[in-house]
Amino acid sequence: MRIGVLGGGQLGRMLALAGVPLGLRFVFEDPAAETPAQLIAEQIVGAYEDQDVHHSLAERVDLVTYEFENVPVAALYHLAEHRPVFPVPQALGIMQDRAKEKRLCEQLAIPVPPFRKVETLDQLRAAAADLGFPLMLKTRYAGYDGRGQRRVDEPAALEPAFSALGGRLLLAEPVVPFARELSLIAVRGRDGVCAAYPLTENHHQDGILRWSRPLTDAGAVEQQTVAETYARRVLEHLGYVGVVTLEFFEVGGVLLVNEMAPRVHNSGHWTIEGAATSQFENHLRAGLGWPLGPTTRRGFSVMMNIIGTEPDVARILAVPGAHLHLYGKDARPHRKLGHVTLVAETAEQLRAQELRLAAGLAASPPLAAATA
Ligand code: AMP
Repeated sequence: MRIGVLGGGQLGRMLALAGVPLGLRFVFEDPAAETPAQLIAEQIVGAYEDQDVHHSLAERVDLVTYEFENVPVAALYHLAEHRPVFPVPQALGIMQDRAKEKRLCEQLAIPVPPFRKVETLDQLRAAAADLGFPLMLKTRYAGYDGRGQRRVDEPAALEPAFSALGGRLLLAEPVVPFARELSLIAVRGRDGVCAAYPLTENHHQDGILRWSRPLTDAGAVEQQTVAETYARRVLEHLGYVGVVTLEFFEVGGVLLVNEMAPRVHNSGHWTIEGAATSQFENHLRAGLGWPLGPTTRRGFSVMMNIIGTEPDVARILAVPGAHLHLYGKDARPHRKLGHVTLVAETAEQLRAQELRLAAGLAASPPLAAATA
């Protein structure tokens, strides 16, 4: 079987790394010639708007998926005329727009923070009057890793924030005083069977994910059930096949959806070594109509992103239980270059390994922060 993937980033690369042992072949489509996926698999270079490029992809593959959220939905509908596409294009259409995804949550009785759509400065002022300060102003489309959003603390800051993001469809919401951020990676097979990984705690800095760890405390059982109920509603409503990610703010014990992604997710990278089946393998199993693999934890783990600067590979590998993934990207500020997942048999061992890793990489703030 050949799988076509729109987007050749690290998520696509890790999909291929999970699928090759299952006998799958991969063809990527990406506008950039040099991508993490292209280093390990075949790639067609071309614009996502180019129908000829889609034709040549469709000719070479049996099934199409996507790893990039800002692919035009029209590209998926076009490809779907030729090959099965998973997850359903409709899911991307909803989840790439912060307003549509929040409206879907409301429709499915899934709590979200209050929000207002904003297209003009007057609408922003009205939203601020309703929601109060501080608020977050975000682009509805194409925001990621903290890009396309501004925090607004006072009325005088409304206009500069609007000008900085202006000309695009926006959304305003209160700054949520969350206790922590959690995410749930869930998956639905072609036969409708659903599964979910343990809720994962995520720590961001400057809008970029720094570390993630699956929850292991018994106190999380109730939240796990609630989160899985929400995910199942979304999956069943959309007739979804594949992996979906729900990101939550936890406030006063309540889970509010911040956003959803119709794809494998950075907060699920720990599943490669830390779960019985990785999110990447389960996404492929789902799309192919194969049985889903178990989503249970294997030991205790934490995933730390490597951002901006090249790591000292030897020092990372000297830490027992450290699994290094580098994506083959050139170093650039704020860029995700790779990640490390630490796996241990006990929570105590994990803690000791985290400290060792952080000590070995004292110059790397994300890793040091992970042990704080
Ligand atoms: P997003 O692109 O919406 O996932 O935002 C990236 C990160 O910015 C989130 O994971 C939060 O850490 C922070 N953030 C986004 N929206 C809010 C909000 N309304 N209140 C507080 N923090 C937020």
